[in-house]
Amino acid sequence: MSHKPRKRFGQNFLTDEQVVSRIIHSIHPQPHQHLIEIGPGQGVLTDFLADSCRQLDLVEIDRDLVALLSRKYLRSPHVAIHQLDALKLDLSMLLSASDASPPEAERLRLIGNLPYNISTPLMFHLLEQSDDIADMHFMLQKEVADRICAQPGSKKYARLSVITQYLCQVSQLFDVAPESFNPQPKVWSSFVRLTPYQQPPVVVESFSLLNTVVTQAFSQRRKTLRNTLSTLLTEDQIRAVDIDPGRRAETLSLQEFADLTTQVSKVRVE
Ligand code: SAM
Repeated sequence: MSHKPRKRFGQNFLTDEQVVSRIIHSIHPQPHQHLIEIGPGQGVLTDFLADSCRQLDLVEIDRDLVALLSRKYLRSPHVAIHQLDALKLDLSMLLSASDASPPEAERLRLIGNLPYNISTPLMFHLLEQSDDIADMHFMLQKEVADRICAQPGSKKYARLSVITQYLCQVSQLFDVAPESFNPQPKVWSSFVRLTPYQQPPVVVESFSLLNTVVTQAFSQRRKTLRNTLSTLLTEDQIRAVDIDPGRRAETLSLQEFADLTTQVSKVRVE
């Protein structure tokens, strides 16, 4: 292939066949499923996906790659190619009539070796549409994957961990070395699975308020809750949900963030 990788589109093409086969094995696509691949590039994963699903939509921003993929899948009517910025992707446009009609009724499965520069905003953009998503399998920068999957008490535990873990069940499946790509990125990657919850694991009155509490709590990592949450709750109001105001955000479980959020809604009503 003569395509010259473009830095501005985060093009690090996967060249390691063993990694490709681990990815496909982890996704385990089934013949009745509707898959969406984001950033298919030259199609290293696409061939395997196309062989084992009912419908495959490819979302690629680079016109040259879209032309290449269009030629490649000319005779595959179940493969549709969209030249589009994935940050503008509206999943409802890709849902076909058969997705809604039993027995094929099935939510979408998203897959992508994502360009690192847009992976976090893209995940949040997609999570806003999580009602339509069965699961997502993404190759991410390892540092981002570590943060997404981090547990309380870890230095990597951050706003991204709490918010993603509220919305999805997360698994870091395996790490991938820079040598598995061309050109080689400067950092390691990780392949992760995100499965949006039908019912969130903890109850909060509003996601947006949880987001506010978590953002504020992590705004200054080294400061305690009595400082970071001072515009939302007094020390006594924090203590009332059995949380020591001298603790830091990085020690709080998702349940404790939910308890603080409920306390903020209560205080606002009183
Ligand atoms: N899937 C291929 C592979 O594994 O070799 C390519 C992966 S490469 C890391 C990222 C791909 O995403 C490239 O094909 C790039 O052109 C595409 N891309 C970059 N930004 C994009 C965007 N905003 N929307 C859709 N595709 C994008």
